[in-house]
Amino acid sequence: MHDPIPHWIAGEPTTGASTDRGDVYDPALGTVARRVVLGGAEDVDAAVAAAAAAFPAWRDTSLARRTAVLFAFRERLAARSAELAAILTAEHGKVLGDAAGEVARGLEVVDFACGIAHLSKGEYSQNASTGVDVYSTREPVGVVGVISPFNFPAMVPLWFVPIAIAAGNAVVLKPSEKDPSASVWLAELWKEAGLPDGVFNVVQGAKPAVDRLLAHPDVASISFVGSTPIARYVYETATSHGKRVQALGGAKNHMLVLPDADLDLVADSAVNAGFGSAGERCMAISVVVAVEPVADELVAKVTERMHGLRVGDGRRGCDMGPLVTREHRDKVASYIALAEQDGATVVVDGRGVAPDGAADGFWLGPTLLDRVPTSSRVYTEEIFGPVLSIVRVRTFEEGVALINSGAFGNGTAIFTNDGGAARRFQREVQVGMIGVNVPIPVPVAYYSFGGWRQSLFGDAKAYGEDGVRFFTRQKAVTSRWLDPSHGGVDLGFPQNA
Ligand code: NAD
Repeated sequence: MHDPIPHWIAGEPTTGASTDRGDVYDPALGTVARRVVLGGAEDVDAAVAAAAAAFPAWRDTSLARRTAVLFAFRERLAARSAELAAILTAEHGKVLGDAAGEVARGLEVVDFACGIAHLSKGEYSQNASTGVDVYSTREPVGVVGVISPFNFPAMVPLWFVPIAIAAGNAVVLKPSEKDPSASVWLAELWKEAGLPDGVFNVVQGAKPAVDRLLAHPDVASISFVGSTPIARYVYETATSHGKRVQALGGAKNHMLVLPDADLDLVADSAVNAGFGSAGERCMAISVVVAVEPVADELVAKVTERMHGLRVGDGRRGCDMGPLVTREHRDKVASYIALAEQDGATVVVDGRGVAPDGAADGFWLGPTLLDRVPTSSRVYTEEIFGPVLSIVRVRTFEEGVALINSGAFGNGTAIFTNDGGAARRFQREVQVGMIGVNVPIPVPVAYYSFGGWRQSLFGDAKAYGEDGVRFFTRQKAVTSRWLDPSHGGVDLGFPQNA
């Protein structure tokens, strides 16, 4: 791994113009592992210039040749996925098995993008008017910017980059400054796969780099994933600069449990979806909405499972790793104190966890809060850590109304054996991604990923068909091959005949 972690511009690593540096931690040790360069406007300009220079030739490269690069990238990524997973664990803290899962879900999008020849086909209508044919083509948009969060340093870039590249665009990625090594590893892999220099670039950094990317006149689109306040800012700023924008924001995902559900399956799912990746997933379950009378039994079953979880260094075969930074750990822990103040019951308190790892790691154990008041900030705000809340309701309708009243609409799940209730839930709930007895309903790569309300700004979701549409724009062509029957002057609006 590089130290300092560099930008990647025009096919080469570079420390760039800015002399700013940031610390990158090993969260399980609690120590600075390496440094990262923090780019400014000049570095973004260099990356955009490299992308703009590479774009025309890549756009004009045949589908067959572009697809060959995608397949070569796919084969390399599959063969070396353990290497990438180890990088994710070292900088993010998630356990190795979970990191491998992240790479696998990213790989799915590469598989999907390998089908770009089929996905980007246009339409053709013969003889729309007499002797006139109409057809459409999909063309790349140009230089596209991707800005990613800390929690999926490989998968989130892979939601966008393979489709953007397959469609003929050139990319500038600005990864999270908290775990930036994966981005450079991926850049090296693209190069090995035969991608021409300049088609994929990485600029490391924080707000100054983002701000330049949002305003740069040669950047056609922005794909952003992160917290809601920043997503809203990115959406408003980049659209005001005339860009096409998809900005995915935060989440507060509810799992509705009906009284007929299998409570053992529910408890397993709640624990897996609440505490996997230490709750640092935008599709984590953070609220279990229990329709009475099941809450007491469910709390007992969840508690029992939580006591069996091993928290510690992700390289040691533990179930749950540390949080990403000390500040984030402290912020998440502060919600436990707030829950106590607001009258919730702290059933399991992760602040006292005994981890299998270094004393200074950013630890916080799985935490269960019962009877959380819906007026509390613990309920209304995204916590993004291993804190699971239980809210008790009397009816299905009360549960659905609660879910629909929240600020976020990313994911939700219902657990029941009643098909009619599940169908009604799916129709009435105002949320973008729904699981029926599936707690983390991340759509497969050929469906699109994205929430509603404050979980997504813009009208295009990530990957799937939305991804192809976002990274291409359509041309409609009306064509006639002249013969003498078409002669004559007529100033009227053309009508089909
Ligand atoms: P974040 O919003 O702090 O950062 C995201 C990106 O924005 C990073 O690249 C960061 O450098 C940049 N950034 C941070 N502050 C900025 C500012 N003031 N101006 C401009 N750019 C700025 O998010 P995070 O903490 O890295 O990631 C966690 C968040 O991401 C959670 O809210 C989570 O729900 C969300 N998330 C959402 C999805 C989704 O699909 N909806 C997926 C993953 C993560």
